[in-house]
Order: sequence, then C-alpha cells, then structure tokens
Amino acid sequence: MGLLRGSRAATPLHARSQLRVDWNACHAAGLCHELLPEVVSLDPWGYPVVEDGPLPVEQVRDARAAARACPRFALRVVEAPAG
Ligand code: SF4
Repeated sequence: MGLLRGSRAATPLHARSQLRVDWNACHAAGLCHELLPEVVSLDPWGYPVVEDGPLPVEQVRDARAAARACPRFALRVVEAPAG
C-alpha cells in the first residue's frame, strides 16, 4: 500500500509548476524561446511571453533546463501554492 491516498496521490509532484520571468533581469535575447518553443513565445521586442497557469507536466523538465540556461538568471520554475 502506498503512503499517499485519495486524489492528491494521483497528482504528479510538479503538476503546479509555473514559469516566471524576472523582467528587470531579462535582456530579451530569446534563448528560452529557442529551448522551449512549446511554452515560450516572443513579443515583438524579443521578450518572452509565457502563458499563466501550470506548465504541462511533460514540459517541466525542459522548463527547468531552460531556466538553468538563461544567461541572466531571469527565468525560474516555481511551484504554485496549492489552492
Ligand atoms: S533566456 Fe533569459 S534573458 Fe533570454 S529572453 Fe529568456 S528569460 Fe530573458
């Protein structure tokens, strides 16, 4: 028998991960879009556009890699509070 029961047991641990941009640090080079085009688009000035809401679970690993690759440390994957 597992340690978790009920509906929370079926929820992946990172199902509520979200991508955040520090706009003061971002320099609009677009690397995050190149690494994560399914999640990050660019506005006309080259700044990343990220949908509000949780990342698709299958994108969380790549999102973390894109955050690590950001040359300005402007991209983060955060865990949304349970609500
Ligand atoms: S990789 Fe980092 S600095 Fe470059 S556009 Fe994305 S968030 Fe901004």
